[in-house]
Amino acid sequence: MNVLVLNCGSSSIKFQVLKMPEEKMLVKGIVERIGEPMSIIEGKTGEKKKRHERPVADHTEGIKEVLALLTDPELSVMKSVKEISAIGHRVVHGGETYSASVLITDAVITAIEDNIPLAPLHNPANLKGILACRETVPGIPQSAVFDTAFHQSMPDYAYLYAIPKSYYEKYKIRRFGFHGTSHKFVAHRAGDILKKPLSELKLITAHLGNGASITAVDRGRSVDTSMGFTPLEGLIMGTRSGDLDPAITVFLQRNEHIDCEEIDRLLNKKSGLIGLFEKSNDMRIIEEEYFKGDALAKLVLTMYAYRIVKYIGAYMAAMGGADALIYTAGVGENTPPLREIAADFLGGLGFGINKELNNEVIRKQDYTDISAEGASVKTIVIPTNEELAIARDTFELLQGRSK
Ligand code: AMP
Repeated sequence: MNVLVLNCGSSSIKFQVLKMPEEKMLVKGIVERIGEPMSIIEGKTGEKKKRHERPVADHTEGIKEVLALLTDPELSVMKSVKEISAIGHRVVHGGETYSASVLITDAVITAIEDNIPLAPLHNPANLKGILACRETVPGIPQSAVFDTAFHQSMPDYAYLYAIPKSYYEKYKIRRFGFHGTSHKFVAHRAGDILKKPLSELKLITAHLGNGASITAVDRGRSVDTSMGFTPLEGLIMGTRSGDLDPAITVFLQRNEHIDCEEIDRLLNKKSGLIGLFEKSNDMRIIEEEYFKGDALAKLVLTMYAYRIVKYIGAYMAAMGGADALIYTAGVGENTPPLREIAADFLGGLGFGINKELNNEVIRKQDYTDISAEGASVKTIVIPTNEELAIARDTFELLQGRSK
């Protein structure tokens, strides 16, 4: 069966079609600049590519464009949209309502709406995609796969903040965590690679992309994660600061005379790698400068690695050790010097990497175990595949329904 996987943002729709259970990707693409005077529509199969421009007013039109591309004779993915058995949506926030993926019903739509205050930028866009599919192809079952779901297993002492308890009750201010689909996916892959059931493994999964988070996965369950109430907390990211003394925000408001909107922009869009390195937030450029001997690039990479290392120490304490550290996503899969700097810090905790293997990791190959011989904690680079994870959950939900 074919599963259409959708990731709907405020002005874009990313899509893939996967044939399940074979897990074969048939086509991937994007509709960009929705709502702007001119939009871009692109789809790629293994051999063919189609790209055109035309105005796409809203998500309903965007979904129609996706469906038109899937049935386009030039790309020849499918003859009719009837060949789509299900649609799986990436949904950012399931709040405390969902700890697993679900088939979408009216109640699920209401819950996603109810969680909009927790993800005011993302949930409305995800919802637009779901409603557009309901309108355009009403007969096709849809599922919601939440970024937050995997982390709902965290204990209360890990997810609560030490602020007046009433704010948890009033606003649900607590750690939710994000990137759950990716952390879960690579944790399961690690179980396969290490040939051990997840129930016997203590894993630390580092999803390092433009957004970045790290998770303690104790016997298959997320027990702590670095992103918090919002994706701002934790590691240094492309444009986000990650952890900082919260009093800095008050100091800046007072001394720079900026309001809370500007603080929000400062910490989410102007900090992290772009704030520190200024020239770029692309790790490829920082890496290039690092190899040329640039002192700032070295400092930035070391800061980035050191923050990861601190979390690894904390999560080893939380789980009573670790069997493996997993690196994934754009930066995690592609930045050997970062992994090397982190390994140098972590030597005392039983980590160690084979530097040659570390330098040879090529993104999108299956996985690379870069552990040094004799290291008591393994280090493995595993490419993430969130679309496949969404397709798998959607396929399983559908199988469950038909049983
Ligand atoms: P993601 O969010 O997982 O797509 O990751 C995006 C980030 O990964 C980019 O901002 C780059 O900094 C980084 N990245 C992607 N490819 C490479 C590469 N070949 N080498 C180093 N960093 C990379």
